[in-house]
Amino acid sequence: MAELRVPLIAGNWKMNLDHLQSIAFVQKLAWALKDAGYQEKQVEVAVFPPFTDLRSVQTLIGADDLPLALGGQDLSVHDDGAHTGDVSGVFLKALDCRYVIVGHSERRGDHHESDDVVASKAVAAVRNGLVPIVCVGETAEDLEQFGPSKVPLDQLAVVLDQLKSSDDYVVAYEPVWAIGSGQAATPDQAETVARALRAAIQDKHGADAATRTRILYGGSVKSGNIAGFMKRENVDGALVGGASLDVAEFSAIVRFPAHVTMDS
Ligand code: PEP
Repeated sequence: MAELRVPLIAGNWKMNLDHLQSIAFVQKLAWALKDAGYQEKQVEVAVFPPFTDLRSVQTLIGADDLPLALGGQDLSVHDDGAHTGDVSGVFLKALDCRYVIVGHSERRGDHHESDDVVASKAVAAVRNGLVPIVCVGETAEDLEQFGPSKVPLDQLAVVLDQLKSSDDYVVAYEPVWAIGSGQAATPDQAETVARALRAAIQDKHGADAATRTRILYGGSVKSGNIAGFMKRENVDGALVGGASLDVAEFSAIVRFPAHVTMDS
């Protein structure tokens, strides 16, 4: 983590917690962060509830002025029209979403989203004033066949081709084999790929974009392993799935500056 980039800890709830549960959860999370002396300037925290929860969570954040950013888990490439079941970036923006995840491996897998579709979603996000969190990552088979960086770099290249160097975006390196498996990448593995991704951003969008763009690691992040990732120069935060559904665990991840030590 480099000092000039504010770290981002993003909680992807996936298809968990209905709108009532989401209210209780966010209230508990806000208390836990307050108790822990959470400083918004040190670490940014974002939550990504299911679409049906967004209005409830937005209302709570607004009413209590909670230090949480809101994001969608996906968006349509279109802004409106005959696209049954899809959700427009216009609507996410109207709910005060700051972020939207694009290209999560579960979307790529379950919905056959190609790199081109992911790139169009990133463009749709930017068009609507949202910051896309662009997920890239290799499967276990890819890792064996191509090594660690090739697939994430290829996936990112398609997206970078469609974005402009002035666009605000976040990249999340999420090895598919690490998601939900309990087997996280090592901090060295994450740093190797994050460094390669940053170099690709520099090649395509220049030094300014490479310096300001945050690169997250995702895949079985827990309170016990976050410090190791955050000590690496090119890892600027985490996209957290399972552990984001546990208030104590997620708030302990957010508190990582307290347990980043030289030997972690
Ligand atoms: C994810 O779904 O983006 C993720 C990283 O999940 P988990 O933390 O559960 O591995």
